[in-house]
Amino acid sequence: MPRLGVLGWPVAHSRSPAMQNAALAELGLADWRYQRLPVPPVLFEETVRALPASGFLGANATIPHKEAALALADRASEAARAIGAANTLSFAEDGAIEAENTDAPGLVAALGTPASGARVMVLGAGGSARAAIWGLLDAGAAEVLVWNRTRARAELLAAQLGARAVDSPVSADILVNCTSVGLERAQDARGAQGLERSATQARALNQLGLTFDQVGEYSYVVDLVYSTGCTPLLEVAQAQGKQTLDGLEILVAQGALSLELWTGRPAPLALMRAAARDG
Ligand code: NAP
Repeated sequence: MPRLGVLGWPVAHSRSPAMQNAALAELGLADWRYQRLPVPPVLFEETVRALPASGFLGANATIPHKEAALALADRASEAARAIGAANTLSFAEDGAIEAENTDAPGLVAALGTPASGARVMVLGAGGSARAAIWGLLDAGAAEVLVWNRTRARAELLAAQLGARAVDSPVSADILVNCTSVGLERAQDARGAQGLERSATQARALNQLGLTFDQVGEYSYVVDLVYSTGCTPLLEVAQAQGKQTLDGLEILVAQGALSLELWTGRPAPLALMRAAARDG
């Protein structure tokens, strides 16, 4: 039985198994299985090296293993090397471990509009911001600006990737939230109501250095945080009639690229989206 999985710690919350197993069934790969692989960092390398002998063809790596996944690979794509992290491992027939990063092209694909020529304001300077900045610049963005709560991290990231750090969020065509702000609220799928909801939005905007009106200056607002509900940032953008993209769409897009890498078949995107939203 060909096996795939997602290595994380913790990984119980992951929607990837529901999404990938639905896709495998749709592709007629009925005997393939994609499973959660909860692995603490200290056992990561040993576990990965044992996977091929157990029938694994590849695996996704998620927090906190993306850097370690790249480090143990025998071969890595240009994207994975430039980003310094891999979210997709494949076990080649010659025994080599191959590393790819589908987070960056996943974001670009999920945008559904060319990043080429766009001015993009990225919030955050962690792992997902790193992939987003690299992906957007690689896709031809005219300029990527980076703001982060801890300014020094934004400066370092911008210098490494060819972006520009700013003291506070500035106007741009696209706003991309790569911080975990909104996650707390998003984890409560029911959300808050009435006044409490506005308070949640105000707190989130404050943490992101934004005002309500300022969000209206971007034509497209993207939030990597995902849930079944809407994040406070996307609520504010939608209230002002702005185009939005949520983190689940980005999760689906990166998962689809990983699946295509392992199977060589086009991913059934609509079905993966439905499974991820139900999961
Ligand atoms: P990370 O490496 O831990 O970075 C966290 C970022 O959030 C840092 O820039 C941090 O700023 C900022 N931050 C945290 N709390 C904050 C607060 N209260 N106010 C302002 N900034 C705050 O995390 P990551 O891997 O980049 O992930 C970030 C988010 O993206 C998570 O919610 C994750 O679930 C989501 N994500 C989604 C996808 C997807 O496929 N949709 C993929 C990857 C990640 P400091 O540097 O100042 O601490």
